[in-house]
Amino acid sequence: MKKALIYTRVSTEEQADKGKSLETQEKICMKWAKDNDYKISEIYRDEGKSATNLNRPALKEILARCQDQENIDAILIQDTDRLARNTLDHLTIKALLKKHDVKLISISQPMLDDSPEGNLIDTIIASVNAFQSQITGRKTSKVMEEKARLGWYPGGLPPLGYKNVDNPSPLSTLDKKIIGFDTQTAPYMKKVFEMYSTGNYSIKDLAEYLNKKGVISPKGYKIHISTLNNHLRNEFYVGKFTWKKIQYTGNHTPLIEKSLFNKVQLVLDAHNQYASRKRKHNFLLRGFLYCGECASRFWTDKHKKKSGKTYDFYFCSSCKGDTYTDAKKLEQRVERIFERIELSKEYTDHVKETAKKILEDNRRNQDGETKRIQAEKSKLEKAMREAEDDRFINKTINPETFQRIYERYENQLRNIEGEIKDVKRDYSQGLKVLEKILTLAENIGIAYKTAKEPLKRKYLGLFFKKFVIKKNKIVKYDLSDDLKELIENGSVRVRTDGLPG
Ligand SMILES: [Zn+2]
Repeated sequence: MKKALIYTRVSTEEQADKGKSLETQEKICMKWAKDNDYKISEIYRDEGKSATNLNRPALKEILARCQDQENIDAILIQDTDRLARNTLDHLTIKALLKKHDVKLISISQPMLDDSPEGNLIDTIIASVNAFQSQITGRKTSKVMEEKARLGWYPGGLPPLGYKNVDNPSPLSTLDKKIIGFDTQTAPYMKKVFEMYSTGNYSIKDLAEYLNKKGVISPKGYKIHISTLNNHLRNEFYVGKFTWKKIQYTGNHTPLIEKSLFNKVQLVLDAHNQYASRKRKHNFLLRGFLYCGECASRFWTDKHKKKSGKTYDFYFCSSCKGDTYTDAKKLEQRVERIFERIELSKEYTDHVKETAKKILEDNRRNQDGETKRIQAEKSKLEKAMREAEDDRFINKTINPETFQRIYERYENQLRNIEGEIKDVKRDYSQGLKVLEKILTLAENIGIAYKTAKEPLKRKYLGLFFKKFVIKKNKIVKYDLSDDLKELIENGSVRVRTDGLPG
């Protein structure tokens, strides 16, 4: 007698449907086995599993058994859609079974044998199953679309300042969850819109402001600049939302007025333009380059290629021709010269010593400042206790006066606590700056490379007088008088290996 295994599956949605229950599938397969002289070795059941992927425990087990055991002749299924909902998965399973001489028998599709016709029909049915799966997917998105049309945000987590809340009186399954204000973050988000609209703050400032206020994303992350930028652009805050590229009017309450939102958009646009202007190359080495042929100062020029890409050049206006030198390459070359500048140990020690002194001064200052503020704080706390006594024990002041005085004290106390924090922060920022100075003193190359443009120009002026260019290369450079002095007294060394000049 031939041996067979039965595979049954039911998805969560199908569980209520009697015709598709695991028992029904089993019964059908058992009857067929009896009629066709198959002995059933075991029944494998995947309950509450969809067939959109192969990640199903019973399926994995049954396939493993077919590979391990020689004597299985067939797997019985009620219908191919129990096995897989996409053609690839179906064919994968079938190929796997065929390799081990296991037949796949679908009871409700008896024409599915291993003949070419059978295989063709098999494939077609499998793709129909896949199609059905897509239809189910589309059904879900239809529901979402309906939700959006009715003004209920279908997008999951709303932006900062809002949260999903239970609707106390839902009318259907679509509005069980609705959008409400997140009272923790909404006032800050509103404030951020107001601040940004003044044009006096960058997005970075405002991200820092939110971080300082302890405002975090619903998922518990710090608010990043890019997130905040998206928020400031998001019409959700004026009562709209976009779902699948279509804008809908939401049922949620706007956080801010449309006029404020529009103002913020203008500032965002202006800042963007400023940023792209700033990104433009502005010829770092201007004033430092001289022609190796005629000793004239180099000029700058831009070429716009047909592709729209611009190329920046330095060139000699008298010699022209092949003096056109790619600006980026030349600037990188200068970076490499900076990397060869080394400060002597004595000199860096001297810098460190100075830094330490500054640090100590700073610390003394901080201690004094903290003491002063602490004294002020104790005085205030004492005054508060006295007010309490006057109100509750001596009963010399009435509740209104007490309330007024006490609130004023509380405000002052908050200010003082803020001051203490500021002093501590200033100090730790000072530390950071010093640390940076020390690191940079030991790595002039990195200091130069990581500096922003104006500072780079300062470094250039500090170390160099000029670079002489011949045939697109730096053939010679003059050090600045300051640097010459430092070199003479041994504080600075410029490694000359492989360098001109
Ligand atoms: Zn020239």
